[in-house]
Amino acid sequence: MSDEILYKNISELRNMLDKEIISSVELTQEFLNRSKKINPEINSVISHTEEYAMKSAREADMAIKDQKTKFLTGIPVMIKDNISTKNIETTAASKILNGYIPPYDATVIKNLLNDKAIICGKTNLDEFAMGSSTENSSFGAVKNPLDLSKVPGGSSGGSAASVAAGQCVFALGSDTGGSIRQPASFCGVIGMKPTYGLVSRFGLIAFGSSLDQIGPLSRSVEDCANILNSISSFDQKDLTSLRRPFNNFGEKIGESIEGLKIGIPKEYLVEGIESGVRIAYENSLKELEKSGAILEEISLPLSEYALAVYYIIAPAEASSNLSRYDGIKYGKSTDIAKNSIEHTLRSRGEGFGNEVKRRILLGTYVLSAGYYDAYYLKAQKVRTLIREEFQKAFNKFDAIITPTTPNVAFNLDEKINSPYQMYLNDVCTIPVNIAGLPAISIPNGIDNNLPTGLHIIGPRMGDQTVIQIAHHYEKISQWKIKPKI
Ligand code: GLN
Repeated sequence: MSDEILYKNISELRNMLDKEIISSVELTQEFLNRSKKINPEINSVISHTEEYAMKSAREADMAIKDQKTKFLTGIPVMIKDNISTKNIETTAASKILNGYIPPYDATVIKNLLNDKAIICGKTNLDEFAMGSSTENSSFGAVKNPLDLSKVPGGSSGGSAASVAAGQCVFALGSDTGGSIRQPASFCGVIGMKPTYGLVSRFGLIAFGSSLDQIGPLSRSVEDCANILNSISSFDQKDLTSLRRPFNNFGEKIGESIEGLKIGIPKEYLVEGIESGVRIAYENSLKELEKSGAILEEISLPLSEYALAVYYIIAPAEASSNLSRYDGIKYGKSTDIAKNSIEHTLRSRGEGFGNEVKRRILLGTYVLSAGYYDAYYLKAQKVRTLIREEFQKAFNKFDAIITPTTPNVAFNLDEKINSPYQMYLNDVCTIPVNIAGLPAISIPNGIDNNLPTGLHIIGPRMGDQTVIQIAHHYEKISQWKIKPKI
């Protein structure tokens, strides 16, 4: 079989499966073979779930024969390893969860299984999703399949790399400050963070609970909409889950973008933006204008504070969320301890990596009695102001467009020792999480032989409009780079 099949999108494969040109068993085996072959080199997958996948594929083939298919039936998917999978080890790429096997499936997994998608493996990530390069993993760094000397972005770097490298057709990631969109941009695929609350967080290993959201990484915008249709649902097990009718996310696909008002925030063309990224961005804006969108410069001055607000709120929530890892309830325990306090301290000391420790220290500090008002409370107030500033902008605009990141994929090891440089990578994506908005990243150019990303942000519940604009852009542009592996 030609390896072309490994780069098709779900719609194309759906057609082939339904016409029985290929079976899900054959398709799944193709992907698993490819994935196991290249994984020692790119390290995007922590564990392959071959037996489970083949069993699910046989069941999917039966459903296909009975003509009882959904969009995802029989389609191979990989799952970021901070999403709980029943009876399958879930590590969050941390030593502290070594050997932890969840007794239940996350709600998104239940939804995927309900549609008979085929789970082929768990993908590598920055430990507890803290990072922008997938170098902070206890399983080692992931390489970008488009250039093996570069990072794939992070923290969902394993998910983005596995889609780009033909190890699966689509993947799930999680996005707290850009962790779906930034790696999607670095690996030349599509990645979307939905409106906060549309996708259940039940079973997602918590990082910053008021910011975390699960979303798809895919090869086409239509696929992205259909994956969202499958994974989003109201969930009583998630207190922030939205009660609303779950419409078709692809409802506006194909509608003209003529007359749509798009805001171009001047503050996002930050100092230090690479010229290739800027050129790609400006070209995309021209294309959208030619299609009849009305572009207008806007000012979002408070976005400048989003990064500072994020690096108070996210570590604060993380320090609280990670307090449950005491060396007793889950995963790793130390071998040497004289008493229970020492046992917990040593287990945490041995189990967490440096970036996670840095966040716990930061978070504990900003929440401590003497500093709470000065840092945490103030950050919460500024968060409200940022949210209001976006709300005001969306009274006038249908969408806001920025580059996804100020630069393309950087070298492995380049930024790992300068946290601030690493944090700056998320300057365009973080404000979106602070305000709970939907946003997508779609390939929009090539700079230094690496992909750039266009970042389309919508108002709360404006997911359909974001998808409509992205789909239109995808139709008028073609940016694909073949993997080098
Ligand atoms: N890079 C950001 C961080 O390290 C965002 C991570 C994410 O979205 N999970 O916190």
